[in-house]
Amino acid sequence: MNLETVLSVEHYSPSLFSFKTTRSDAIRPFRAGQFTMIGMGDDDILRAYSIASPPDADHLEFLSIKVPGGPLTERLKAIQPGDEIEVGDRPTGTLVLDNLTEAPNLWCVASGTGLAPFLSIVRDPSTFQKYERVFVTHTVRTADELAYRELLSGLPITYYPTVTREPFPTPGRITTRIDSGALWSDLGVAPWSVSEDRIMICGSPEFNQEFRDRLTADGFTHGTNRAPGGFVQERAFVMQRTATPSE
Ligand SMILES: Cc1cc2nc3c(=O)[nH]c(=O)nc-3n(C[C@H](O)[C@H](O)[C@H](O)COP(=O)(O)OP(=O)(O)OC[C@H]3O[C@@H](n4cnc5c(N)ncnc54)[C@H](O)[C@@H]3O)c2cc1C
Repeated sequence: MNLETVLSVEHYSPSLFSFKTTRSDAIRPFRAGQFTMIGMGDDDILRAYSIASPPDADHLEFLSIKVPGGPLTERLKAIQPGDEIEVGDRPTGTLVLDNLTEAPNLWCVASGTGLAPFLSIVRDPSTFQKYERVFVTHTVRTADELAYRELLSGLPITYYPTVTREPFPTPGRITTRIDSGALWSDLGVAPWSVSEDRIMICGSPEFNQEFRDRLTADGFTHGTNRAPGGFVQERAFVMQRTATPSE
C-alpha cells in the first residue's frame, strides 16, 4: 500500500461521492477498467475500488458508495483535500478491453458505482481506436445518483441513463428496457449480436449474474485473460457476511 493525498472531493447524494488523489510513481501502470485496494486509518480494513480515472491521468479518481455503518466508507465519506489515504500499488482485474474479441460496438453496462471502471474506459483514447461506437448505460435509484452525467454527455459516446425509483424520461431497470425493446428503439440500434457487439458489465452480484445468464444463453462467451470473448464483467461490490457473536 502507498500513501496518496486527497486533492478534491465531490458529493452527489446522501449515498455517493467521488474523490481525486495524487498518483505517485509507486502506483504501477494499470489498464482502464482495473481496480485497486483502498484503506484509511490505523486498522487493516482494505476495500477494492475501481479506478475511475484513465490510465494516462496524473491523478487517481474514485467513485464511492457511503454505506451506513460501513467499516471503510463511514470514515472515507468524511475525507477532505489534504487527507492521506492508502492506495494499493498493484491495480488488477479482468474488466479490460484486452479480454474482448474484436467487433464494431462496445457496450458498458453499469448499475450504481459499477460506473467507476467505465469512467476510465471512456476517457482512455485507445478505446476509440478499437471501437466504432461506444455505449454507456447507467442505472441508479434516483437521478441525483447519476454521477458524471455532464461529463458522459459530453464524450463521443452514446450515454443512456435509467432511474428506477423516481420519474425519469428513461425509467426502470436496464434489463426491463432490453426486454421491452425500449433500449433499441430509443437509440435506433439493433439488439446485441455476437458479430457486432462486445459487452462489459459492472453492477451488483445479482445484476452481473442476470447478464451472465442472458448473454451466455444468447451465444456470447465470457472473456478472460487467456481466452478473450464476447463479454466481461466485474462485481461493483460483494455482499459481506456480518459476523455473529457465535462465530
Ligand atoms: C472488484 C471490486 C471493485 C469495487 N469497486 C468499488 C468502487 O469503485 N466504488 C465503491 O464504492 N465500491 C466498490 N467496491 C465495494 C468496496 O470494496 C466496499 O465494499 C465499499 O467501499 C463499502 O465498504 P465498507 O467497508 O464501508 O462496507 P462493506 O462492509 O464493504 O460493505 C457492506 C455492505 O454494503 C453494500 N455495498 C458495499 N459496496 C457497495 C457499493 N459499491 N454499492 C452498493 N452497495 C454496496 C454490500 O451489501 C455490502 O455487503 C468494489 C468491490 C469489488 C469486489
